[in-house]
Amino acid sequence: MNAVCARCGEEKGGYHLVCAKCGHRPVAEGLQIAWLLSAENLTPEQVRGVSERIKAGEVIRPTDKQLMKARRALGASFDSDPGLTSMQRVGVLLLSLTLTPLPAWVCFAWWLSTRPRAAWQALTLAVPGSVVYFGLGVWMLLN
Ligand SMILES: [Zn+2]
Repeated sequence: MNAVCARCGEEKGGYHLVCAKCGHRPVAEGLQIAWLLSAENLTPEQVRGVSERIKAGEVIRPTDKQLMKARRALGASFDSDPGLTSMQRVGVLLLSLTLTPLPAWVCFAWWLSTRPRAAWQALTLAVPGSVVYFGLGVWMLLN
């Protein structure tokens, strides 16, 4: 057993999928709970046990510590991180070219463990600005 629906306990092919039985679609915190109840986090036997408990009417309430674990696991996955919006990308690039690429580097370091896609996007945008500033610096040293 791979994953179960947190609402009705029905088996699912993956924790992020819509439940075929009750139509429950896990989003936001529900997605974290769904991850905790899936084979990503539990053994197949434990998943089966959770399914039986939900079907018996038990409401699964994960602790903050468990939710934190799920947040970390989900945040660190490239697929679950939507990355930066195009407006944010333009903003970071303009900032990096006109003022300083430093904030983009800080974003990269800040986001690397929790938002890998956004972090690498910020880094990509920091590079052109950094090259320009490095070039300017060298030019000023030589003149
Ligand atoms: Zn369901």
